Amino acid sequence: MAVSIDGPLTLPVDGPLTAAWLRQRRQRWVERSEFDIGYPNAVDYPDGDDFDLSISEILAGVSLNNVGHPFTPTSGFSGHSLPLEQQLIRELGAMFRCPPGSVTGFVTSGSTESVRAALLAARRRFRRRAVVYASTAAHTCVAKVTEELCLPLQLVPAGAGGGMDYAALTTLVAQRRRGLAVVVVATIGTTMVEAVDDVPAVHAALDAAGVPAGRRWVHADAALAGIPLAMLDPADRPGFDFGDGADSLNISGHKYLAVNTSCSALVLREDRCAPLNPTPTYTGAPDLTPAGSRSGHTPVLMLAALHGFGTDGLRSRAETCRSHAAALVELLTAADVPAWRHKDAFTVVFPAPSDRLRARWPLPVQDGWGHVICMPGKPFTRYERFAAEYLADRRDHGGHPLPGRPTAVAADLEDAIAC
Ligand SMILES: *Cc1c(COP(=O)(O)O)cnc(C)c1O
Repeated sequence: MAVSIDGPLTLPVDGPLTAAWLRQRRQRWVERSEFDIGYPNAVDYPDGDDFDLSISEILAGVSLNNVGHPFTPTSGFSGHSLPLEQQLIRELGAMFRCPPGSVTGFVTSGSTESVRAALLAARRRFRRRAVVYASTAAHTCVAKVTEELCLPLQLVPAGAGGGMDYAALTTLVAQRRRGLAVVVVATIGTTMVEAVDDVPAVHAALDAAGVPAGRRWVHADAALAGIPLAMLDPADRPGFDFGDGADSLNISGHKYLAVNTSCSALVLREDRCAPLNPTPTYTGAPDLTPAGSRSGHTPVLMLAALHGFGTDGLRSRAETCRSHAAALVELLTAADVPAWRHKDAFTVVFPAPSDRLRARWPLPVQDGWGHVICMPGKPFTRYERFAAEYLADRRDHGGHPLPGRPTAVAADLEDAIAC
């Protein structure tokens, strides 16, 4: 049966979903992915390396369900990968300098769920008597999740460059109702410009507002940039991990780790969490995770990525992305486009492409700016092709209207361009 696959993603009208149709659909997904340079999904998963079969094939015929918690023994069900999940969390804990004796955490469906679980842990610890602070450039999941958890959210202005305005944080925190604990979500790589909130600066702001050490929780939302930043010398990067004072931290598996399905790991300092009543469920395991059934495949896929790339691979991939981003900035600025990036960022920011161009290159835009995120597995020729089309579009249609400067990119634009 001939099926059109040019239209929107719909099933063939006259039949069931077939493997043949899906194969065609897959082909189209693969072809279209050539243009996905605005979303930070790495596509170089080390599948097949050192294995007879690819990791996905090994997992294909196995039903796994990680119901429960990777750090508590389970007895009622053998189809799980909880020990591997625990190992993943421990290895990430070490990468992010969490004291080995106080590492806990689990794998979730994505960074939104991780942020939710971290804020839930903070809410439990402070018995709901807490206010959440995040910058206006934080991921939209923070607003979504605080509403869901009935936690008040106070947005802190993002300063020039997209990072949190720490003086404003001090002022806002000092104004909160007496006795309320303070939970700060630091964004480690904002969605649009990949700005990094500095965790030591957050602590200094809370010190200035007189918040006692036992009445604060700093979560580092490091969905994209956590692992790439961890590959740098701590003296040479913004402070963001447990060694810098974070109480919990999340990374995404489908971003830098190139896992082909959404997943995220949340690492928490156990000594910061309120003790829970671990009542065993029907599986014989106390279910300490907010979810019920959880994927047993994604922890394996994430651990296999960590080991498959290795520390050297994780580092060199980041270096390649940074050099691609630097070269793309150079390409655009050489043609008088005010493109820029933060030091160490994979994200290149420039005046938003026209809707015409975005019909072909599905890039996100905000406040008149757009971005490309240079990710592992995507060749530089793709960015060159985009830049050529962007510049041609600009030439043929009288240039892009120069956007107003959003708070996120105002005063230090010149400095940023120099990076
Ligand atoms: C991608 C991202 C998220 C959301 O992650 P999901 O996996 O889509 O839920 C949250 N925060 C930051 C900083 C991100 O980059």
